Amino acid sequence: MAKVEITVEYCKACELCINVCPKGCLQIGETTNAAGYDVVEMKHDAECVACKMCAVMCPEAAIEVYK
Ligand code: SF4
Ligand code: SF4
Repeated sequence: MAKVEITVEYCKACELCINVCPKGCLQIGETTNAAGYDVVEMKHDAECVACKMCAVMCPEAAIEVYK
C-alpha cells in the first residue's frame, strides 16, 4: 500500500496536487500551517496508486510518496 507524506509547513495550498491526482485522493483540509495556508491532506488513502504525480507536481516539494 502507498503512503503519502505531506510536509504541511511547506504547503501553500496551490491545489496543483489535488488537480493532478488521478484518483481524487487529496483535498484541502481543516489544518492551517504557520504561514496561514489551509493545507492539503489525504482524503482517500486506500485509492492511492503511488503514481507520484502529486509529488512531481508540487512546486514546494511538500509531498513524498512511498510504496
Ligand atoms: S501518488 Fe498518485 S494516486 Fe497517490 S495521492 Fe499522489 S497523485 Fe494521487
Ligand atoms: S502542490 Fe504542494 S504546495 Fe500545492 S497544494 Fe499540493 S502540497 Fe500544497
